[in-house]
Amino acid sequence: MQQPIKNILIVGGGTAGWITATFLNRFLDPKLCRITLVESEAIGTIGVGEATVPPLVAFLRAMGIDEAAFMKASNATYKLGIKFIDWHRGADEIWHPFGVVGAPQIANLPLFHHWLRQRQEGRDASSYVSYSLQALLGDMSRGPHPLEGNPLATSAIMRQGAYAYHLDARAFAATLRDVAVGRGVRHIIDDVRHVALDQRGFISHVDTAAHGALQADLFIDCSGFAAQLIERSLGDGFVSWADHLLCDSAAVLPLPHDGDFHPCTRATALKAGWCWRIPLRHRVGCGYVYSSRFLSREQAAEELKAHVGQADAAPAHLAMKVGRRENFWVKNCLAVGLSAGFLEPLESTGIYLAQKSVELFLDYFPDTGFDPLLIRRYNQAVAREYDEARDFIVLHYLLNQRNDTGFWRAARALTPPDSLAETLELYDRTGLVDWQGHSLFGDTSFYSIATGFDRLPQTPHAMTAQMSGQATWQAMLQIKAANLALAQSLPDHGDLVRLLHSR
Ligand SMILES: Cc1cc2nc3c(=O)[nH]c(=O)nc-3n(C[C@H](O)[C@H](O)[C@H](O)COP(=O)(O)OP(=O)(O)OC[C@H]3O[C@@H](n4cnc5c(N)ncnc54)[C@H](O)[C@@H]3O)c2cc1C
Repeated sequence: MQQPIKNILIVGGGTAGWITATFLNRFLDPKLCRITLVESEAIGTIGVGEATVPPLVAFLRAMGIDEAAFMKASNATYKLGIKFIDWHRGADEIWHPFGVVGAPQIANLPLFHHWLRQRQEGRDASSYVSYSLQALLGDMSRGPHPLEGNPLATSAIMRQGAYAYHLDARAFAATLRDVAVGRGVRHIIDDVRHVALDQRGFISHVDTAAHGALQADLFIDCSGFAAQLIERSLGDGFVSWADHLLCDSAAVLPLPHDGDFHPCTRATALKAGWCWRIPLRHRVGCGYVYSSRFLSREQAAEELKAHVGQADAAPAHLAMKVGRRENFWVKNCLAVGLSAGFLEPLESTGIYLAQKSVELFLDYFPDTGFDPLLIRRYNQAVAREYDEARDFIVLHYLLNQRNDTGFWRAARALTPPDSLAETLELYDRTGLVDWQGHSLFGDTSFYSIATGFDRLPQTPHAMTAQMSGQATWQAMLQIKAANLALAQSLPDHGDLVRLLHSR
């Protein structure tokens, strides 16, 4: 007879390990299922995931973690979107704001289609994202809620959770660790030396240096790029995305704070990739994601140092294996985080994908029978998440018109995944982007990026011809006026961050 899972062992104490531990602890009764996390002190964590996306807000709320306390402990600031600088032809800015742009629908149709019609009829010369409150706040460097009062009561952005955070990745993992351990997760510092399999090929236990054999019903591989369990022991394959994405390396160089608290991540195009700039409370996260086919380590370090004006600095270097697992769940082993896959951090998807993997796992939660159908369906669901995120990242490169380096020409010449090519074709011909079923990036995200790169459909959605252009134009003008009035009433983001951290 199959038994309920009674023992879970998580290997790895990076962000993915502690997200997994916190989440499972919240929903599994500690009296019925024991969760243990083992992590190596010697190996350490990658510690560079510093920009996040809105689902983290919902995650923290579901975990019962107080936002103000979390922000303080993680040196966090607010993030309202991403600004892509110089990606198109050079000397340009493209916004990907969080939340709805303008209004979810006007007369049952996304604002994008109305905007396109108004534009083609000569009424509207402004950009699509000029209807976004988050983009406006970003440009004005304003925070998402007033200085005083309950944020949830005083701000629709906060109520809707249409924002995210910049955070210190190591401090964030430590914050989650304290929560999880405080709620009963067992924490072991040790090195996993060997993974033992039983006669069915399931993991029976792992051997550690100081704590001997650790047994469990279910093992969760959060060991980072090493993928100690799922790949090295169970031999699961890796689907490389090298054909679709060129960047495979990073040079990381945290900067001292310059007093700029822009509430958005800035991604500036450089010669063979892009540089992130993430304002935390106490420092600025910064690094260069680049393609080793077009730039050596030394060249990347020199370009980055010149770009940020730190001639004497010594960036740390990372190699990145871009792609995902063939299977995220094999027998009694689940992979979460970098062991499951990696997508360059252009849209800050790493922490999200770990979160989503473990949230989906609860939907497919097994007993000790580990039903293969359950496993197959979970693997399909997680693969969809990864592939959708990949398509959105590829879109940014595909639409660029830079001609200054071989990297940018090669990036737009790569063959896009079929799923993206078809979405783009539908968009070009009809204006429709049917990404409503996507859980992270929906049609609004696509429209923000595509319009930023001046890629517009041949014709507005056919429904716009069924409506009065004048009436929708008035509604659009009202959205802009309301956004401006609201933005003017909100405080400087730097003042808000200083206040939050002083409490
Ligand atoms: C350059 C770069 C920038 C990034 N930027 C972002 C971003 O802005 N936003 C975002 O969301 N994501 C970002 N990411 C991704 C993000 O860093 C990761 O998704 C996140 O940190 C999760 O990492 P992890 O916990 O899977 O692995 P790691 O942080 O590598 O942790 C691995 C853990 O496994 C343990 N371990 C390994 N082997 C053993 C062993 N044998 N025995 C015991 N323990 C072991 C280690 O001790 C460690 O605790 C970025 C990644 C890179 C490379």
